[in-house]
Amino acid sequence: VGHLYLVPTPIGNLEDITLRAKRILTEADYIAAEDTRTSGILLEKIGVHNHMISFHKYNSKQRAPELIKILRSGKDIAEISDAGMPVISDPGYILVQECIKNDIPVVPLPGPSAFATALIASGFDAQPFTYYGFLPRKSSEQGEFFEKMAQSSATSIFYEAPHRLKKTLKTLSKYIARNRQIVCARELTKIHEEFIRGSIEEVQDYFAENDPRGEFVILVSPNTEQEKTLSWSELIDQVNELVDQD
Ligand code: SAM
Repeated sequence: VGHLYLVPTPIGNLEDITLRAKRILTEADYIAAEDTRTSGILLEKIGVHNHMISFHKYNSKQRAPELIKILRSGKDIAEISDAGMPVISDPGYILVQECIKNDIPVVPLPGPSAFATALIASGFDAQPFTYYGFLPRKSSEQGEFFEKMAQSSATSIFYEAPHRLKKTLKTLSKYIARNRQIVCARELTKIHEEFIRGSIEEVQDYFAENDPRGEFVILVSPNTEQEKTLSWSELIDQVNELVDQD
């Protein structure tokens, strides 16, 4: 059987393609790409010329069996997404699952991903962290995630589109303390790379003056204040303890 290679591609700066990624993309029999047009431009720039097969979230269920057939015939497939790591908020998961079921070796290559790049420069503790990917778009559905982040002692990371950023920060501000630190990492590895750091209030003020443009990763600092809300039973236990002390 062939191999499924999971190949990360740059999230902005073309120099971030690894030597191994370039070699695998050149040597594989096929490249399964999320968007063959976008990837065509990237591959051209890095000097890779190879056959591409389109594989995205809308055709992945039908395409996966076809790709499995190719892999079973002994051919290698390199899977890429538009940018960064395949599978991380991008298609790929279904194919990986199918390969595992079919005893086809899955070979992941290390490389760029926006969330890890943002995390290491955030200044927040990276152990533990929780990665949420994209949150639901509606404020009403974001609440349960923001509640978790508000109470979490892990650094929380999520992706957001620029045109939704202000609204999402406003919703977030209803769930976290005013002085809770957040970081918005913008345009990582690109010319306009920027880190907007501060309390949720300060960051909101910044975006009131500067319209969000480009790509963003948002990080919420761990809750070190232990401002965890107690469940009713925990509350009753605590009250009973106090009463006992008296
Ligand atoms: N697979 C990618 C990865 O490994 O990070 C993520 C793909 S997801 C469809 C695209 C989102 O990732 C963007 O909307 C943005 O939130 C984030 N992103 C990608 N590149 C970025 C960059 N250069 N700077 C900041 N965020 C980025």
